[in-house]
Amino acid sequence: MIQLEGITKSFGSLQVLKGIDLMIEKGEVVSIVGPSGAGKTTLLQIMGTLDKPDAGRIVIEGTEVNRLREKELSAFRNKHIGFVFQFHQLLPEFTALENVMIPALIQGVSAGEARRQALEMLEFLGLKERSGHKPAELSGGEKQRVAVARALINRPAVVLADEPSGSLDTRNKEELHRLFFDLRDRLGQTFVIVTHDEGLAQQTDRTIHIVDGKILSDSSQDSSQNSSLDSTQDATSAPTLD
Ligand code: ADP
Repeated sequence: MIQLEGITKSFGSLQVLKGIDLMIEKGEVVSIVGPSGAGKTTLLQIMGTLDKPDAGRIVIEGTEVNRLREKELSAFRNKHIGFVFQFHQLLPEFTALENVMIPALIQGVSAGEARRQALEMLEFLGLKERSGHKPAELSGGEKQRVAVARALINRPAVVLADEPSGSLDTRNKEELHRLFFDLRDRLGQTFVIVTHDEGLAQQTDRTIHIVDGKILSDSSQDSSQNSSLDSTQDATSAPTLD
């Protein structure tokens, strides 16, 4: 699903990633932990094709993304990767429904179909009654769930989340974490989550610990029988919302 080989990245004279090799399987919920400044966000940005490595290879769903041109790359990203950030980054002038529709519209889906899909996704996340509200009229937890709906509308195979619960209180945090696992179980997505939240990290299938731009430990290599993954599972054909 996601394969990284020999990824390095520097900002000026600071080498932030020092050779990352990583293979993430379909349907895994993976947490990336480590001290501030270790390179976690940079790694996630590179995995999400929002930033380019200085060297190394990235393959996502069989596509070698570092070979794509900018236009192909943004189309690939919009279709295959969903992002959830610490601060929801919803557009304030649009309603929840409109925010969720945007990636589908970019994908070329008609307005009517995008609306239908967005409503279905909002309903799935328990937000149907909030669909006409603008971000300022929603609670922190609701805004973050709208951001999740937006990340999922195109049914991306991969969801990348950077401190997704960092701005939430305990109750909303737990709700959001449950939602990730529920989505994985029902829609089959792969989740990669950068987090400082130890509770969340402990629940994930796999924890990758980054220190000083390198992988210090990977829990999947600590246990030989790591995964309950079913290799026949197909994330793209699975989703049925009910
Ligand atoms: P983490 O997510 O583990 O806290 P980051 O990946 O955000 O770490 O950052 C790693 C290091 O790279 C930090 O020292 C940070 O200041 C630096 N850095 C990140 N992005 C940039 C950038 N765009 N320009 C310059 N330095 C950056």
